[in-house]
Amino acid sequence: MSDSRRHVATGEAVFREGDPPNCAYLIDSGRVEVSTQQGGKKLIFSYLGAGDLLGEMAVIDDAPRSADAFAVSDCVLTEIRRDQIQERLKEADSIIRVLVHALLQRYRSGLNAVRGRPKTAVSAGTSLDASEGANSPHALSKFRLESQLISAIERDELTVVFQPVYDVKLRQVVGFEALTRWHHPERGPISPVEFIALAEETSLILPVGQYALRKACEALKALGDEFSEVFVAVNVSARQSSAPDFVNMLKATTELYNIAPQRIELEITESLTLDYKAVEALIERCHELGISVALDDFGTGYSSLGHLHRLKFDVVKLDQAFTRQMMDDSRCMALTRGIATMIHAIGAECLAEGVETAEQAIVLERLGVRYLQGWFFGRPEPPSAMYGALTREYGLAVTAPSQPEA
Ligand code: C2E
Ligand code: CA
Ligand code: CA
Repeated sequence: MSDSRRHVATGEAVFREGDPPNCAYLIDSGRVEVSTQQGGKKLIFSYLGAGDLLGEMAVIDDAPRSADAFAVSDCVLTEIRRDQIQERLKEADSIIRVLVHALLQRYRSGLNAVRGRPKTAVSAGTSLDASEGANSPHALSKFRLESQLISAIERDELTVVFQPVYDVKLRQVVGFEALTRWHHPERGPISPVEFIALAEETSLILPVGQYALRKACEALKALGDEFSEVFVAVNVSARQSSAPDFVNMLKATTELYNIAPQRIELEITESLTLDYKAVEALIERCHELGISVALDDFGTGYSSLGHLHRLKFDVVKLDQAFTRQMMDDSRCMALTRGIATMIHAIGAECLAEGVETAEQAIVLERLGVRYLQGWFFGRPEPPSAMYGALTREYGLAVTAPSQPEA
């Protein structure tokens, strides 16, 4: 039998009111009575038996034991150390932590009322926010932001901007990436890095994603027949892509706007949790509809050659870190060249992100990268700026030295 087990004979205390919360217990066998003394009388709260958890409350909120626990039959208990519980709580979603602490506060307050002691104020705020630590975003402000994001979607307060994608071969802008924006009434503009991450924690990402897709179709429709070949790439999060009716929703939206589905491209970001099977099935269904799928942010974070090998992406988007560093770093340049070659070898197209200068564009063109995106070609702008981007001359062919004839 391991050291973590404790035997408590009938009538002995497991712990007493006021004891420090050293650990919690899982009752393996036997029965425990949880009680308190009130005016010289015993007030019994509960009887616990095999499989029940005992004494976790004081461990969670680090307060002295608030009741006595006595074995009413011989007990075998498994000790659960404080750090076992604390570690799980730390790993949990911060909102779950808030809910657990709020419930405990409420429970303790109820206990005090039963015992005729002054009620402790139950605030979902103070101690909970403090428990989040200085560096982590406050769980409660996260909750607040989430509620505000829900109303922002309902009130149509999000906007979508479009950043040009330049085709080196055709020497013109051929498509755009749709990027969602949120202008908060009090906080001003909130970065999608913040609110998309928040939305991705819950199913809230679904309406945000649908919104971006609708706006993409609207923008393509507004361009008219003159630009019927132009595409818009829409970012899709893992949670969205695995939603069962995602492709049906995609198809229905393009039909609603009378947009050929081939004019929509999906961008899926690499992540540790990328579900091969789900993405494989998604790509297959998209290809049936003529929708191409891009692997976003390749080369940083969780890049895996397994993704490239097993999933038939049409486009691979090289993260902007490559574009930024390759001019000053020969190793980065060699890697960029190698990755572009590899992408072409598997029959996919390569897009380089974060192109800010003509010099970078020229070098990437020499490396054989077909699509370029970045501030040099245009910032993300409202749909009204699309026409300008599609008809603008970028003059790259003129500035490019020793450029082979197109
Ligand atoms: P991303 O998909 O990698 O988008 C490219 C980001 O790089 C955009 O940031 C864009 O504004 C920025 N960018 C483009 N060109 C340049 C450049 O030349 N230099 C620099 N320094 N930056 C450039 P943004 O708009 O802040 O979006 C951040 C991320 O938020 C996106 O990264 C994407 O992952 C996510 N996101 C945005 N909208 C949506 C959406 O509707 N759905 C989902 N799931 N994610 C979205
Ligand atoms: Ca993207
Ligand atoms: Ca990207």
